[in-house]
Amino acid sequence: MEFLRPASWDEALAAKAEHPAALPVSGGTDVMVELNFDVRRPSAILDLNRVTELAEWSDDGAVVRLGAAVPYARIIEELSGPLPGLALAAHTVGSPQIRNRGSVGGNLGAASPAGDAHPALLAAGRDVSVEAESVRGTRLIPIDEFYVGVKRNSLAPDELIRAVRIPVADGPQQFSKIGTRNAMVIAVCAFGFALHPKDGTVGTGIGSAAPTPRRAVAAEEYLAGELAARGLWESGGLLGPEVVRRFGELVREAASPIDDVRGTAAYRRHALAVLARRTLTWCWNDYGKQIRSAA
Ligand SMILES: Cc1cc2nc3c(=O)[nH]c(=O)nc-3n(C[C@H](O)[C@H](O)[C@H](O)COP(=O)(O)OP(=O)(O)OC[C@H]3O[C@@H](n4cnc5c(N)ncnc54)[C@H](O)[C@@H]3O)c2cc1C
Repeated sequence: MEFLRPASWDEALAAKAEHPAALPVSGGTDVMVELNFDVRRPSAILDLNRVTELAEWSDDGAVVRLGAAVPYARIIEELSGPLPGLALAAHTVGSPQIRNRGSVGGNLGAASPAGDAHPALLAAGRDVSVEAESVRGTRLIPIDEFYVGVKRNSLAPDELIRAVRIPVADGPQQFSKIGTRNAMVIAVCAFGFALHPKDGTVGTGIGSAAPTPRRAVAAEEYLAGELAARGLWESGGLLGPEVVRRFGELVREAASPIDDVRGTAAYRRHALAVLARRTLTWCWNDYGKQIRSAA
């Protein structure tokens, strides 16, 4: 097995162009497990750890450009203000050791339906995009087009993830996950939720309950419609139990889970409706408080 260790981003792109089958490694928290268990035997490994800019982020006030290798621990410490949903999701990943090494770029590279970053990224809005780069140039892949199958993403063989672009939160966001224990656990199912008062939309993301991470489109449209029709964005007034219940139902209907060792499809559907109702209620309570304190 060849071991490629580029010292810069340009060298990394050149190496990937020359060896498209080379497996990138960032934190290694997925890759090393796969190598140790002989799930993969790549002809070459492309170690990205010397490419320092991958571990940097910037915020222009509207969008955070999150370097692919920024570890979860730093997202929690440094980005819980602009990216509250992603920071909450990061809290639930693995253990302190995994959060010190694991990254959103690696979560996207693995594209597991159970990856915890995905529901938060989907909920953060349709403008979230993955910055994919190769020697041919840069393209922005909308997050909704990134996941194409079980553990498959839309990167070309010569492309690497440079960063993820995520709009700065303009309203409350939440993330909730069910596992078989409290820590170090792959999600039985997970749900990300965000209110976007600036453009009157809501965001959702379903994890571990479909072949790919996905949003609950009908639930988003239903809730945004109710909020607009009843003037609730302006008043921050009570949602009412019927709206909360219907939102949960629509989230449940958006899932297409399977039975597996972690849980049954029926349990996942039920749990998602609960997570959806909870996260909506938490966010709406926070939003109402914001509106009332600004009045
Ligand atoms: C004990 C344990 C607990 C875990 N718990 C969780 C959990 O709770 N939630 C969760 O979501 N995950 C969990 N994971 C999985 C893993 O930690 C995450 O998926 C993490 O985000 C991977 O990031 P990484 O930087 O370590 O990726 P790596 O292992 O380095 O790479 C993962 C994949 O992404 C590709 N890749 C990496 N960087 C790039 C890049 N820049 N461009 C293109 N492709 C790239 C790699 O080739 C590989 O296919 C756990 C893993 C372990 C071992």
